Amino acid sequence: MIINKMFDTAIIGSGVAGSALLFTLARYTDIKNIILFEKYDEPAQLNSGPKANSQTLHMGDIETNYTLEKAKTVKHNAVMVANYISHFGFEESTGFRRDKMILAVGEDEIARLEERYEEFSELYPYFVKMGKEELAEKEPKIMEGREESVMALGVEGEITTVNFKKLSENFVEMALDEDKNIQMHYNEEVVTIREDGDHFEIVTKNSSFRAKTVVANAGAYSLLFAQHMGYGKEWAVLPIGGSFFFTKEKLLNSKVYTMQNPKLPFAAVHADPDITADWNTRFGPTAFALPKLERYREAHIRDLLEAMDIGRDTLEVYYDLLRDKVIRKYIFTNFLDEIPFIGKGVFVKDAKKIIPTMTKNDLVFAEGYGGMRPQIIDKTNHTLMMGEAKLVKGGAIFNMTPSPGASTSLAIAEKDAIQICEFLGQKFDKTRHEKEIVNK
Ligand SMILES: Cc1cc2nc3c(=O)[nH]c(=O)nc-3n(C[C@H](O)[C@H](O)[C@H](O)COP(=O)(O)OP(=O)(O)OC[C@H]3O[C@@H](n4cnc5c(N)ncnc54)[C@H](O)[C@@H]3O)c2cc1C
Repeated sequence: MIINKMFDTAIIGSGVAGSALLFTLARYTDIKNIILFEKYDEPAQLNSGPKANSQTLHMGDIETNYTLEKAKTVKHNAVMVANYISHFGFEESTGFRRDKMILAVGEDEIARLEERYEEFSELYPYFVKMGKEELAEKEPKIMEGREESVMALGVEGEITTVNFKKLSENFVEMALDEDKNIQMHYNEEVVTIREDGDHFEIVTKNSSFRAKTVVANAGAYSLLFAQHMGYGKEWAVLPIGGSFFFTKEKLLNSKVYTMQNPKLPFAAVHADPDITADWNTRFGPTAFALPKLERYREAHIRDLLEAMDIGRDTLEVYYDLLRDKVIRKYIFTNFLDEIPFIGKGVFVKDAKKIIPTMTKNDLVFAEGYGGMRPQIIDKTNHTLMMGEAKLVKGGAIFNMTPSPGASTSLAIAEKDAIQICEFLGQKFDKTRHEKEIVNK
């Protein structure tokens, strides 16, 4: 059955990315008719759920794999989420001012962090430099039993911790409060998108809808939608799972991140006081290739095989990754982390970098926690792409948003909203947008 009404925009997915776009279109554009499809019964059931990710608002300050240029962009983008939370009164319900730090262990890391401090402190004037004494006072567990030298750059009084599911719900509720015709279709899975002259037909399991523009914010599935329409064939998905461990007792008050290995930018262990567990300390994530598109849900084998697109080009990328000794060791260790009984014993070696006295008996595998990162493989250039990926074809946009996609969700939404307005000949209210969430 085709529903004849023509929507201006159809959004697929109500994770933080799709919800942010719904809010941005509803509040800052004069687009009137929007329809959103979400295959589950409420927003943020997959990666944007608070148990799936680390709940960190990534500002580029403690992510030591970012160049200054990249950090500037990430800060500009993530500040929008912090501004949104403050401006609309969602502090202490959605976003939280908790301390965080980046910890350098050993002379080599300290030298790198000192260098970074010089280069980055203009961009992050709030950095607090901490040595042994300050750390012992602030986070005693970091110093207990420690022999190596340490240094940290701390961040105090900023919004650092976000429940991205709550944020998604805030976005949807605020969008629905606008004087617009918005239809929310939960429990409605989109099967395919077809181009039909000057519009798109969005086919769901039960029905079919028409829209002038369409945006897929459906994680790895966004690429499948694009490929069914003949786009993005040069890309494939490498699904990377991430798991966590809880400590039996709360050991830290701050988020504590460690220095990144440049070869493994998503891999450095960190410890996060967890919103869902009364601020108990959660360690992780691990990172390992897992043949699934959705963690803790059914396998979706057909979609998985299509998304991974295992052929000569993808295998060459896997081969290149495995040829590197550091990456090989990392993959093997992370595989062991997942094995019941021995996993804790392997993971604790990494966790000790933050808390030297930790033993495997202090850790419990965080059952039900963790998500999937849809990392994109560029088959043409034989590379594993980091960060977000986007395909734009006329009125259709396809977003894949691995980390730090939740932190940058409002910026991705801004870009897409402007693009859609240009396509439809509608207006984007830049002044209001800047006043409320860009400039603070
Ligand atoms: C272990 C881990 C830790 C992370 N930590 C952080 C962090 O600390 N900070 C940060 O900023 N980012 C973090 N990330 C990344 C972050 O979680 C993601 O970037 C973000 O959640 C992506 O949002 P999304 O809306 O694109 O995807 P999702 O939240 O996965 O939402 C996609 C939505 O699309 C829906 N959908 C899919 N297919 C269909 C279909 N056919 N029809 C209808 N609906 C469909 C799904 O049901 C889902 O609701 C982490 C990720 C992982 C895996």
